[in-house]
Amino acid sequence: MEKKNIDWGNLGFGYQQTDYRFVSNYKNGAWDEGTLTTDANIVINECAGVLQYAQTVFEGMKAYTTEDGRTVVFRPDLNAERFENSARRLEMPVYDKDRFVEAVKKTVKANEAYVPPFGTGATLYIRPYMFGSSPVIGVKPAEEYQFRILTTPVGPYFKGGIKPLTIRVSDFDRAAPHGTGHIKAGLNYAMSLHAIVTAHEEGYDENMYLDAASRTYVEETGGANFLFVTKDGTVVTPKSNSILPSITRRSLMYVAEHYLGLKAEEREIPIEEVREFAECGLCGTAAVISPVGRVDYKGEQIVFPSGMSEMGPITRKLYETLTGIQMGRIEAPEGWLVEI
Ligand SMILES: *Cc1c(COP(=O)(O)O)cnc(C)c1O
Repeated sequence: MEKKNIDWGNLGFGYQQTDYRFVSNYKNGAWDEGTLTTDANIVINECAGVLQYAQTVFEGMKAYTTEDGRTVVFRPDLNAERFENSARRLEMPVYDKDRFVEAVKKTVKANEAYVPPFGTGATLYIRPYMFGSSPVIGVKPAEEYQFRILTTPVGPYFKGGIKPLTIRVSDFDRAAPHGTGHIKAGLNYAMSLHAIVTAHEEGYDENMYLDAASRTYVEETGGANFLFVTKDGTVVTPKSNSILPSITRRSLMYVAEHYLGLKAEEREIPIEEVREFAECGLCGTAAVISPVGRVDYKGEQIVFPSGMSEMGPITRKLYETLTGIQMGRIEAPEGWLVEI
């Protein structure tokens, strides 16, 4: 496979059009076969459900080249499952899990020239999404939908080295109890934009959101889950119904327990406990783990013992083990790497 002539190592995280995308339409109660197209533009009615009432859900995953030259996708079955749950919550038709994985494979295969070579640190980001395409003016679900998968090559996350993040506890809420925080819907991001723009203006990398009901427990950031490490080496992650169940976080918890022999707990984490932790990281597909150096909360600066210049030792082990599994250097649990 001849790769595109791209300066892989210097790519950022931005949209760059690739040759093919997958598209399938839902009409009269059924999905069509779906097909690949070279047309990157979408024409929909001015009154489409997605435009009026934000009826849209998405997923994010990546394809990359392993050390031994295979093109793989990491755990797409879990994205397929989460996509189903997201669609159900917004009264959208489910796109069958097996067909979802097949469509992902087909789209990556068609764009294999854009899957960055091993060693560049770059990946091909995969974005499946679905939206209400038929006109809706009274508030109700659309009758027709489109499911698409686009891909775009993205650069290495930690360009120029790993630098721990500075974050703040936000005065805004991300997700209501019994709301939509647990699904991957565009609406959760639209309403987080003001909080992240103001955080950046004030010199922070990210917002830590607390539970909206009591403002007592740690939830997550706008787009990544938290992992903390206690001083005695236990890995803990917040438990809440309004957190988006990150596949990276679930994989890291498995790695902590089964590869590193650490204790791994999912439990409620009071904000008041944060200053007791030894390490903190944010997990998601893009970075795997980004270390957090400092959390600002009510005028207090909580600096983790791991400091502002490098990853904490356990965070690093987790990072190296999971990326080792992803790259084929360490044996993966059954089914984690799906070959294209
Ligand atoms: C996508 C997302 C994550 C990370 O999930 P991964 O499956 O690990 O990529 C975390 N939080 C939110 C709110 C997200 O949308």
